[in-house]
Amino acid sequence: MSEVASPERTVTPAAPKVGFVSLGCPKALTDSELILTQLSAEGYQTSKTFEGADIVIVNTCGFIDDAVRESLDTIGEALAGNGRVIVTGCLGAKMGAEGGNLVRQMHPSVLAVTGPHATQEVMDAVHANLPKPHDPFIDLVPNAFGVAGIKLTPRHYAYLKISEGCNHRCTFCIIPSMRGDLVSRPVGDVLSEAKALFEGGVKELLVISQDTSAYGVDVKYRTGFWDGKPVKTRMLELVRTLGEIAEPYGAWVRLHYVYPYPSVDEVIPLMASGQVLPYLDVPLQHSHPDVLRRMKRPASGEKNLERIARWREMSPELVIRSTFIAGFPGETEEEFEHLLDFIREAEIDRAGCFAYSPVEGAAANEIPGMLPLEVREARRARFMEVAEAVSTAKLRRRIGATMQVLVDSAPGLGRKGGVGRTYADAPEIDGTVRLLPPEKISKTLKVGDFTRARVVGVEGHDLVALPI
Ligand code: SF4
Repeated sequence: MSEVASPERTVTPAAPKVGFVSLGCPKALTDSELILTQLSAEGYQTSKTFEGADIVIVNTCGFIDDAVRESLDTIGEALAGNGRVIVTGCLGAKMGAEGGNLVRQMHPSVLAVTGPHATQEVMDAVHANLPKPHDPFIDLVPNAFGVAGIKLTPRHYAYLKISEGCNHRCTFCIIPSMRGDLVSRPVGDVLSEAKALFEGGVKELLVISQDTSAYGVDVKYRTGFWDGKPVKTRMLELVRTLGEIAEPYGAWVRLHYVYPYPSVDEVIPLMASGQVLPYLDVPLQHSHPDVLRRMKRPASGEKNLERIARWREMSPELVIRSTFIAGFPGETEEEFEHLLDFIREAEIDRAGCFAYSPVEGAAANEIPGMLPLEVREARRARFMEVAEAVSTAKLRRRIGATMQVLVDSAPGLGRKGGVGRTYADAPEIDGTVRLLPPEKISKTLKVGDFTRARVVGVEGHDLVALPI
């Protein structure tokens, strides 16, 4: 006799609960989303507290020393609050002083440790320590995003990871030693995930990787298939198709971690025609050719100033965000001033800057000419002063313009105003738009909806605008 649902099913023992802490960058966040999706599909539930969980997973970050400390502290808190802890993520791949695994040295009682991008290993560790619930009624828990799985971001935006790892060997970075060489996801999978996200209500898709411009290099730009049509595993074709998929949903596509290679020139017309946002996150790190060489940066031989000027000619609305390092080993005052001039001339819209800090295991530690901390910090402060002046001047030019704003927060339907972002602002890292209460009584604001708004002022990195 086949089994049927019956009232007795309500006495099914409670599903095992997993506590989850996700630290680190958007790439780590997408790893967390994959693990949570798998846990949910297998019927595990999540717990908001360490104490209420049967087991805790900590997804760690190992990029800079502060992140290492935060990750180790969190593992300690999870052990104190729960005792049964699985560690995954970049820190899990790090060696300790004597060559063994750093996490195991610091916290010997953890149940298992994996590196980043290791959903299956994490699931194996969960199964070994907390058997999965065999319940066909909860085995396939549907979720709003279908094949895209569970998302940890608000429902109206999502990160889309297109590849793992990196083929470069920048001297200040240990990511390749933790995440390995570039592995591009099949283009059909990436596009199917994008479609599922838009279907689920995502209005802004943020394309991420370690090097978006290198997408497909590892598979020699192999032709894949999506929706019955051939599509090359290459940035241009990917971005064009993402724009086509987004269009009927009126959704935004935003590109992160793009290096200034000549091939990117072909993507700019898609921005000019509105298929993807005229926004590029280009992590330049420096402008002086000698510093870039010491950093072993990708595209370090490119003439970035000329290239950016050409991009802006093709797409005048283009907004460029970038990150920089001040006080890299051996940086002279002249090289640093080259960087300040570059920020002014390239009119970088949004710039972040770190004072150089040595990362354990990075090749840059061997470069002679380490600068004293005060010099590195002072240069960072000088950099930020210039960058903020450039950014504010550019923001002021927007006063009087009417812009499309994606609403991130709007308590009480926005009667008292809200917060949103324009195409020029990526979530978490850029500025926001403070939306004033609408003048029209019939006008409401809803999270995840677009509204048009007239820019009436600038507050630091943010705009102030009136919904119309
Ligand atoms: S491009 Fe350079 S900084 Fe970025 S992940 Fe690769 S090695 Fe690290």
